[in-house]
Amino acid sequence: MEKLQEILTSTKGITHHHWPILQHEIPVITISGTSDGPTLMISGLLHQDELIGPAVFDKLLNGQFNPKPLKGNIVILPIVSTYQVGLWRGFEYFHDAASATEREKLKGGKKIVNANRFFPGKPEGEWMEKFSYEITENFIKNADVVLDFHNCRLIDGCFAACSNSHEESIALANSMGMDFIDLQNDSSMFSQTMYLQASKINKTALLLEFPGYQEQSCESSTDRAYNSLLNAMKFLKMIPGELKPQPSTFFKREEKAESIISEDYGHFSSRVKNGQTCQKGDILGVLRNLNDFTISKKFIAPFSGACASIGPSNGYSIIKPGDEIATYKKYYTLNEVLK
Ligand SMILES: [Zn+2]
Repeated sequence: MEKLQEILTSTKGITHHHWPILQHEIPVITISGTSDGPTLMISGLLHQDELIGPAVFDKLLNGQFNPKPLKGNIVILPIVSTYQVGLWRGFEYFHDAASATEREKLKGGKKIVNANRFFPGKPEGEWMEKFSYEITENFIKNADVVLDFHNCRLIDGCFAACSNSHEESIALANSMGMDFIDLQNDSSMFSQTMYLQASKINKTALLLEFPGYQEQSCESSTDRAYNSLLNAMKFLKMIPGELKPQPSTFFKREEKAESIISEDYGHFSSRVKNGQTCQKGDILGVLRNLNDFTISKKFIAPFSGACASIGPSNGYSIIKPGDEIATYKKYYTLNEVLK
């Protein structure tokens, strides 16, 4: 526990470390500021095919980020639990797919484990519980703020998830310029995720999702994620700079989204972005006839709300009857969620 604090006080600027953990090592990079401020932990690749974290952290380390005016410290875990861990243990990991309801299962004789289901971990127990415990004890407990970077589907947009009962987390999420913020409680999400467990010990903690997983290069997502990270650091007063006030759209995860389904074949184009607030009757998207490319159907907002996803889930805009083209929800403003 003291080791990280020791490093943060005895080093200045960017330092690379290989951190021993359960007979293995993970990379840890510290950026120590010249004056006091919060300790921000940022992590990536908790899910092995969600490569946004290391892509964003490369931008922090490649010279475009000036660590000189930094107040406080940044602790980067670019590869929390990924290929190496999978290879070490003979596991295969999966991402946060909605169907992945079981904590562990077997596929073709191979154990499949979701690494974001074991926090805060235990000193004794299954290997993943011990691994999560080490991450919690060494890093999360020594941080003030935890930002865990993930990738989602292309149709999901950029969003943050946080505990609905942690006001500092909600305020931070609101500052980052995300498309929307997904408020979670213990029953709406797996409670043993890193960010929900971090907020339980009063850390400001967010799960951040950016479109494009499975090794798709998605430069626009990386830029967006990097800017969100800079916004967070400005909000935390770790770096200088003005924040543009931007009203965020909040969803409550426990409230079911309305699924908007196409009844026809056609080419779908969206007319709104994820999280963009709509009035009843607004056009969310249109379907074009495959014979003459005229508009054959307009998908209309059924009530005042916003899309949590827009577009067909396979990303292929030629759609068939029964395809879901959007999920639509009631939204809340910052004042409404802080009450
Ligand atoms: Zn993930």
